[in-house]
Amino acid sequence: MRRAMQRFHTEPAPLKLRKPTLHSVRSMGAGQNAPTIPDTDGVNDMLQEAGQNATLMDVARGILDRLVERPELEVQVEEILFLKECLGSNLETLAMPCMLLQRDTGDVTPGGYDFLMTYTKQVNTSSSCPGTPGSRSRTPSVAFTRPPSWESLKSSMLEDFDKWDFDSFELADATKGNPLHFAGWKALDAFLTDQTSDIFLEMEKTTRFLEAVEDMYAKQGSVLYHNNVHAADVTQCVHALLSQFGFAAYFDQLSILALILGAAVHDMGHDGRTNSFHVNTCDEIALTYNDISVLENMHISKTFKLMHSDPSTNILDGLKTDHRTRLRKEMVEVVLGTDMSSHFSSVADFKTLIEKLGNDPREWHCEAKAMSALRVMVLHAMDISNPAKVLHISDKWSDLLRQEFFLQGDEEKRLGLPISPLCDRETVRFASSQVGFFTIIVQPTFALMAELQHPVKDVLLAHLQSNTETWEARKRKESADHSSPQASAQPAGVSRSDRSGSVCRTASRQEGSNNSLPSELRTVLPGVSSSRRW
Ligand SMILES: [Zn+2]
Repeated sequence: MRRAMQRFHTEPAPLKLRKPTLHSVRSMGAGQNAPTIPDTDGVNDMLQEAGQNATLMDVARGILDRLVERPELEVQVEEILFLKECLGSNLETLAMPCMLLQRDTGDVTPGGYDFLMTYTKQVNTSSSCPGTPGSRSRTPSVAFTRPPSWESLKSSMLEDFDKWDFDSFELADATKGNPLHFAGWKALDAFLTDQTSDIFLEMEKTTRFLEAVEDMYAKQGSVLYHNNVHAADVTQCVHALLSQFGFAAYFDQLSILALILGAAVHDMGHDGRTNSFHVNTCDEIALTYNDISVLENMHISKTFKLMHSDPSTNILDGLKTDHRTRLRKEMVEVVLGTDMSSHFSSVADFKTLIEKLGNDPREWHCEAKAMSALRVMVLHAMDISNPAKVLHISDKWSDLLRQEFFLQGDEEKRLGLPISPLCDRETVRFASSQVGFFTIIVQPTFALMAELQHPVKDVLLAHLQSNTETWEARKRKESADHSSPQASAQPAGVSRSDRSGSVCRTASRQEGSNNSLPSELRTVLPGVSSSRRW
């Protein structure tokens, strides 16, 4: 404990603390102008060790040490209240950052600070109004689970979380591979702190839920694109669209919650293969979901199975029954809406809605189908929003997706299946397909979103336009490379026409469905009608 205390270099100025003896520390009660020292095992152990020279600051630091450094230990509610009392009412002073953030390494720990701010607010509210009708019962002590590695986050990263150009790859590095936990936590902040709301999430269950969801995603090394970083990225994008681009004004709290949770879980359990791959191989999930949106059905089904099988993760537990019912319906709806097979019909329907109802969704509330379409469009648009990011971020995502497609193509080749469009590493013209994807799929989607909120045009469409020009230049180079005599030669390996047919009758149906698309789209996506999943 003493070792931990010595790590703090800077004394927090606002605290007026004197140096009491062990006895006088304990004797200072709430009626005096000093915080009440909690009579807990943790504090008693600390006082025992620190001896008679212990100060109130030492007590506070000891609690913080357990809170931040040793999350496996329980921190008692009265200990949190003691910290809160030390800080006074002004939580935004530098007192807490000085205590929490100054380390012997000089690193700051804004993640821990941020978390504690939320935590103290919640505990204080719950403690001060124990008998308030409708208030939720709290356990007397809280098993504190620290979000993983938050202390390594830079303060700029926390501040940037609301921004469109937030870098989820940096977040993944800073959280040591657990970005979804952080992104979910930040995006859900309002639901964790406002206990006056009907829609309030319990902090412990939220933590357990986010941990479990992140565990059920493949990690960066095993699935290249559809992993927990993509989930964190889409969650952050939804949060940014709602908070920075005005879309929150269109939804009530429950729908906002459905969108954030939907984003967090929307690819849970994804194995890096497309829907058509699962259908073509007649695997378990294709059989379970009868070839219909098999991945999307699996993602959302796993989500609710998780909550039901492990009550400690059931973040919806505290909600009213009708709220839970509606939330489930909306989460199912938005996750199923991420199936690219419904892209063109969704966009066309949404366009018709805007033409019919106008471009202010605040006027749409009596139109349940319109609001549903809007929710679906928000998550779907954010799911395909990589091309609307700054180029260096957009390029990283493109490359990861390309590699994931190639791995599928390799496996299709190995299994003797037809290789899906864009998945054959020997023949694909990726730059050409990117230009098509940007202009045919993403641009019309964001153009509709921009009709609702003009800033979408200034930021998202502006990035998209710039990135499209870059890919057009790459496409010209790619075409030139392919038309050179060397490139015209037959690529090594088996040509497409030599490959054997499907091992499953459904394969030909999938190919057929792809062939029904306009010819230019077949080169844009690996079967946009059914198989490209984001
Ligand atoms: Zn996705």
